[in-house]
Amino acid sequence: MSRYHVIGNWKMQGSKALVQELLSQLKVLNETKPLRQTQLAVCPPFPYLSLAGDMLVDTPIALGAQEVSLHASGAYTGQVAANMLQELGCQYVIVGHSERRQYCHESDDMVAQKAVMALQNGLTPIVCIGETLSERQADLVATVISRQLQAVLTAIEVDVLPRIMLAYEPIWAIGTGLAATPEQAQAVHQLIREQLMERGPAASRIPILYGGSVKPDNALSLFTQPDIDGGLIGGAALDATAFWEISQAAESI
Ligand code: PEP
Repeated sequence: MSRYHVIGNWKMQGSKALVQELLSQLKVLNETKPLRQTQLAVCPPFPYLSLAGDMLVDTPIALGAQEVSLHASGAYTGQVAANMLQELGCQYVIVGHSERRQYCHESDDMVAQKAVMALQNGLTPIVCIGETLSERQADLVATVISRQLQAVLTAIEVDVLPRIMLAYEPIWAIGTGLAATPEQAQAVHQLIREQLMERGPAASRIPILYGGSVKPDNALSLFTQPDIDGGLIGGAALDATAFWEISQAAESI
């Protein structure tokens, strides 16, 4: 497994033309300098997964989805099952993004079930956790992070647990341009790592990505923290050069 992971969450943005342009640029950049220790992945909206998957065949750039149903199949209009994502060539799926927790009222339990469903279908769930600004101001970071994390850790069988990834995304840092400082991020990553260590040596190595206003100019200072294993990138992932430069920060360590 790569030392670092740089994963782009495109959210509900883009078009067919953008997929073609962005991925063509990324492929050229990757050919000029193949990545040595960084796994790059993109998570476009559902309708573009097929196109993106076709464009990424025979490249080291992986494909992920932004969401998955907690059900295997059935009368769930509008939902997308994990096996469908797997068939489309996805390796990753983001679960529990704060925008889904907030706008779609996803509970910790639902997020945990989605992670289980992803694992059962050969996908790596990227489980997002993070506190709001008011929770941070009320000194509740450890409480909130532990609650969100434990829901996932207890739902997943210990033998498959090492196959998940985590993303610490402080909600106040997402899309605001106000990233957590490397010290703030590391403090929470360390807390997460300590809880993973309680689940054994394999679980202790689960990658923990940081997300929240990662840009080319702050990526290196975040990625050099001991418990930060890469980034989940929103806005900057829509610019091929910026996204690539973030991967280069990981490569330079
Ligand atoms: C995100 O939505 O996961 C994210 C980290 O967004 P941004 O990089 O734009 O803050």
